[in-house]
Amino acid sequence: LDKTAMYSGKIEGKGPRYCPSLEDKAVRFADRDEHTIFLEPEAVGSNILYANGISTSLPAEVQLEFVRTCIGLENAEILQAGYAVEYTHVAPRSLLPTLEYRGASGLYFAGQICGTSGYEEAAAQGLIAGLNAALAIQQQPAFVLQRHQAYIGVLIDDLVVSDPSEPYRMFTSRAEHRLLLRQDNADLRLTPLAQQLDISSELRDKIFAQRQHDLATARQALSSKPYPLQVANSGARSLLDMCKQPKFVGWPAIFEMHPDLLELNIPLRDWQTIEADVLYAGYASRQQAWVERGAEREAMQIPADFDYSSVQGLRAEARSCLTESLPTTMGQAGRMAGVTPADLGILEIALVRWQRASKNLADV
Ligand SMILES: Cc1cc2nc3c(=O)[nH]c(=O)nc-3n(C[C@H](O)[C@H](O)[C@H](O)COP(=O)(O)OP(=O)(O)OC[C@H]3O[C@@H](n4cnc5c(N)ncnc54)[C@H](O)[C@@H]3O)c2cc1C
Repeated sequence: LDKTAMYSGKIEGKGPRYCPSLEDKAVRFADRDEHTIFLEPEAVGSNILYANGISTSLPAEVQLEFVRTCIGLENAEILQAGYAVEYTHVAPRSLLPTLEYRGASGLYFAGQICGTSGYEEAAAQGLIAGLNAALAIQQQPAFVLQRHQAYIGVLIDDLVVSDPSEPYRMFTSRAEHRLLLRQDNADLRLTPLAQQLDISSELRDKIFAQRQHDLATARQALSSKPYPLQVANSGARSLLDMCKQPKFVGWPAIFEMHPDLLELNIPLRDWQTIEADVLYAGYASRQQAWVERGAEREAMQIPADFDYSSVQGLRAEARSCLTESLPTTMGQAGRMAGVTPADLGILEIALVRWQRASKNLADV
């Protein structure tokens, strides 16, 4: 370990948590006695292999030594040894949500230079920074996606208030509005915004119009067919209501009952979008209401004796930050570095329960 750049002190930064180096694995998962490596051919017919799973900062001669301990690699040569570098990055807090640098108007940053790691993270920021640079030149209003509109909104909102000690990666779990941000409705959420900005291609517009038409036709067809089962008090009126059933029979069964639906030639993914829309409608409207109650929530008081250890589902990092700092309002809690908006959602539910329980106790 004293020969690795990462552990000998030559490099101070932490590597990306989600692709640890071999030496990191040896230290952090010391109880394991084996490690999988994938040998990926660089090209069809090539005898050059990329050894996936052994990122390392060990000296080249040590790398050759351990690579040759693998069965089948006894005579391998290394064409490009592994290495570790430290990237510098701008402090993401110095960026506006448009990714313009606060200290110099007209200068935009995007990608790994902002403290992220990942292809999608870089591409998403490139889109927003590029768009805003173009809008600024045209003296048009800035374009910022909100957290409930897109994962890009979550990524940039997280980033511009963060002080990253390790590269930021986007996870779906970072988003508190996951029911609104489904992948199957991404085009429905975002194409209208692209059209407003005039950056949607003719082909995309055509595909979008077709999809909207198909969804409306499918919905109409389902609404006009009777609900097939007689379930007392279910409130179900049409076939559309079947999607709400916990034991939804599935589309093949529905198409068997109503072959004319198949004749509409609507892709299965559109039927599935309707199914998800109907099934989650109640939860989605609650999330929408949660988004709209933002200011009210900011002011919500947290009692001094509130017990964070009783909050189920709160991440350990958030629990320890909150217990240490004891914020007095949800607004304060939300501005703490270790507390994510998803944690706030969980905290709000726990607080409402706590208030209810305290009130009941007082009434007794
Ligand atoms: C080995 C490795 C494996 C990875 N695997 C994955 C993975 O599986 N999945 C994933 O999502 N991410 C992965 N990543 C991370 C991902 O590759 C990067 O985070 C992402 O590509 C960064 O994109 P970027 O556009 O910000 O920067 P870059 O892709 O680094 O682009 C910056 C560009 O700027 C150019 N440049 C630099 N200086 C100058 C200059 N002065 N003038 C002109 N041009 C300049 C560089 O040549 C480069 O082309 C991996 C990274 C590495 C190193």
